[in-house]
Amino acid sequence: MVLDLTSEQEKLKKEVADFVKDKVEPIASGLDEKCQFPIELFKEIGEKGWFKFNVPEKYGGEGKNTTNLFIVFSEIAKGLASLSVSLDTQYLLMEALNLYGSEYLKEKYIPPLVKGEIIGAFAITEQTAGSDIGGITGTAKKNGNEYVLNGEKCVVVSGAVADAFIVFLKTDPTKGAKGLSAFMVEKDMDGVVVEPLNPSGLRACGLGKLVLNNVRIPVENLVGNEGDGAKIALSVLDFGRIGIASTAYGIAQAAFESAVNYAKERKQFNVPISNFQGLRWMLADLAVEIEATKLLILEAAKTRDKGLRYTKEAAMAKLYSSKVAVKAALTAIQIFGHYGYLKDKPLERYLRDAKGLEIAEGTSEIQKLVIARHILG
Ligand SMILES: Cc1cc2nc3c(=O)[nH]c(=O)nc-3n(C[C@H](O)[C@H](O)[C@H](O)COP(=O)(O)OP(=O)(O)OC[C@H]3O[C@@H](n4cnc5c(N)ncnc54)[C@H](O)[C@@H]3O)c2cc1C
Repeated sequence: MVLDLTSEQEKLKKEVADFVKDKVEPIASGLDEKCQFPIELFKEIGEKGWFKFNVPEKYGGEGKNTTNLFIVFSEIAKGLASLSVSLDTQYLLMEALNLYGSEYLKEKYIPPLVKGEIIGAFAITEQTAGSDIGGITGTAKKNGNEYVLNGEKCVVVSGAVADAFIVFLKTDPTKGAKGLSAFMVEKDMDGVVVEPLNPSGLRACGLGKLVLNNVRIPVENLVGNEGDGAKIALSVLDFGRIGIASTAYGIAQAAFESAVNYAKERKQFNVPISNFQGLRWMLADLAVEIEATKLLILEAAKTRDKGLRYTKEAAMAKLYSSKVAVKAALTAIQIFGHYGYLKDKPLERYLRDAKGLEIAEGTSEIQKLVIARHILG
């Protein structure tokens, strides 16, 4: 299918692809191995203006353009999905502030986030609260002009390196999800501790743990109103799921392209292995699935850009594209035979990274729950 990109979008796609080829691909496996967040690349992305595509001009952005985000995330994910996931998180924070933050919070945080001068993170999950955010036990207690925050967020993209976090905590522990509120917290505040994690995939996304020990923040750092936390988290995650789906699409494309090239080059029984029907069918199936993934993502992106509700579309795109990314990585490994199983090829990284996308920002089961709710009520 022709993506129907404008000439500006074609230019953007090429610019991002060139950046990935020159700067990301050469260091991607080293970053993955060392679990190292590519801070220089992240800052360069800010300088290039690739954080501008969902931000009002007033705060340094270029307005809403979710198709541009698909282009940026998917091209970057072809080189390093961890980086794409960190960009998605930066966008999540800006979206939360843009939709729900006070003018003070928008002016304080969005411009440096757009420029990539500061790194943002989005902290919800706790040991006892994953799919069910109503189970959050971290608390925010109002005390005069301050809130006192306590809690532990156990898995946060960019968490080990972020400067600013939006953190979801209970202001009313008696009310479940309705008792949640969102707050802006900075890494340098007293009582904030971050620790890096050692995940199996997405190893360069700065995955970390965030601990809050009696952190005192001004009341101005409340995002929206008390009790808005679940509303903020769920609506912003709809948006983030388009980014995760685009990241998965990028991984699937990278795996597919490697497999096609290898199948044409590798000879066994005196012919290219691409002559064997078993492999041809594998690649034909995958080509269809990857194309379908793109259509689902663009449908979600366009629905969003029209200002319509896109919860179901984003859940469908995220569910399907993460599944296709896992399948594409597995298929590529199979087609490469023993070479695909070695660490010096990126294929096993694609698999580890793709699997994380079936869990992050709502598991596949939760996406089905969301889709079914839209269909069945
Ligand atoms: C790579 C990665 C990055 C992440 N980044 C962040 C981040 O930046 N910030 C953040 O706050 N969190 C982050 N997370 C956490 C992520 O959002 C949670 O892992 C996810 O929401 C699931 O929660 P859980 O892991 O506690 O699993 P659980 O909720 O305990 O679920 C366990 C299993 O039960 C299934 N299940 C649960 N409820 C239902 C149900 N109602 N119906 C059917 N099945 C169900 C799940 O699908 C899963 O298979 C990240 C996770 C990963 C893997």
